[in-house]
Amino acid sequence: MLIVQKYGGSSVADAQCIKRVASRITKNKNEGHEIVVVVSAMGDTTDYLVDLVNEVTENPGEREMDMLLSTGEQVSIALLAMAVKDLGFDSISMTGAQAGIYTDSVHTKARIKEIQCDRLRDELAMGKIIIVAGFQGLNHSGDITTLGRGGSDTTAVALAIALDADICEIFTDVDGVYTADPRIVSEAVKLDTISYDEMLELAHLGAQVLHPRSVELAKINNIPLHVRSSFNLNSGTIVKEVDNMEQAVVVTGIAHDLNVARISLFDVPDKPGIAWKVFQALAEAHINVDMIIQSAMEDNINDISFTIGASDLSIALNLMDSIKNDVGFSRYTWDDSIAKVSIVGAGMATNPGVAARMFGALAKNNINLDMISTSEIKISCTINNNQAVEAVNALHKEFNLDKN
Ligand code: ADP
Ligand code: ASP
Ligand code: MG
Repeated sequence: MLIVQKYGGSSVADAQCIKRVASRITKNKNEGHEIVVVVSAMGDTTDYLVDLVNEVTENPGEREMDMLLSTGEQVSIALLAMAVKDLGFDSISMTGAQAGIYTDSVHTKARIKEIQCDRLRDELAMGKIIIVAGFQGLNHSGDITTLGRGGSDTTAVALAIALDADICEIFTDVDGVYTADPRIVSEAVKLDTISYDEMLELAHLGAQVLHPRSVELAKINNIPLHVRSSFNLNSGTIVKEVDNMEQAVVVTGIAHDLNVARISLFDVPDKPGIAWKVFQALAEAHINVDMIIQSAMEDNINDISFTIGASDLSIALNLMDSIKNDVGFSRYTWDDSIAKVSIVGAGMATNPGVAARMFGALAKNNINLDMISTSEIKISCTINNNQAVEAVNALHKEFNLDKN
């Protein structure tokens, strides 16, 4: 079998961890499998590099940001390849570029366009264990790009697809995908399986355990993912296509996201093309907009509020300054002390009253709702970020997720 495995930052946090991963990989190799491993930067290296940037400049520029952040993974691939060789196995480390991973040019949020696998296949044919740097690629101008925070998961899934792997395993610091982040909900329960659609929503809504794009790629290519712990041998969670008929529960999981900011525009003229101008400007800057609310029009003016990732806030505010006169709004406000909490479940589509239950549970805990958005399989609302933990726990109880 050809196995692609991904080990996250906490799984390779120090020398001891790296040796443990090396021994796990070589055991799989000894069982007769071909192994391609994707690794993240060690521990909190990427956070440390971001902090360093903030000490140096307010305007790092995205190309240089990628140049810097991609270095973390280069350290871990080399060390892991050395540890694997030490155990008597042939191994080779490769950067994203060396592995043939080509992306578009959207620095810090690049998307993989193609993987040229020839070198990978040659090295595999020579019996080597290949260790690839996650999270990075090369654009067609030859510059290093990164795939967005948490992007190593996406590298692994993309490689599994390109190499037509038999299994794609995502090793992390928890036993699998839980009904909520086990770090903040002690009663969270591990799920044995979850559908691509539900996992995609959870990942988009802040469940850090998988990078959203990795789930998207897995779904499109119908490749199951096994999310499991690198610290034990327990089987984890399989992310796969699940028939809707099997959806017995209304709510499968709760997600929360603290990386959210809201911008509100006041006195926006009520005429065609105005919303287009605002959101086109954001789209051109590659800023993802999540919730949008336009208040009831009065005297031919509206108020428009929308949420974006908190890390995009300063760029978005500059943009608002630059389009203010053209769009014609009188002023804007912003708030980055908000959090988004969401309930996700495919069973929701056919069960009425779920929103009422959600809002009731939050009200009982004195949690005020700000913006609300819904889709067939999720309901999200923004609240004050210091009530996020309380909100997630309240919702977990309300939907009996501890009794799975
Ligand atoms: P890695 O470094 O292995 O990529 P991450 O920190 O990116 O690990 O993701 C794992 C973390 O995701 C867990 O430690 C957990 O706190 C968090 N998490 C958030 N929501 C969930 C969830 N529903 N199930 C499991 N883990 C979750
Ligand atoms: N090292 C990168 C990050 O911390 C990528 C990853 O870990 O997936 O975001
Ligand atoms: Mg991760």
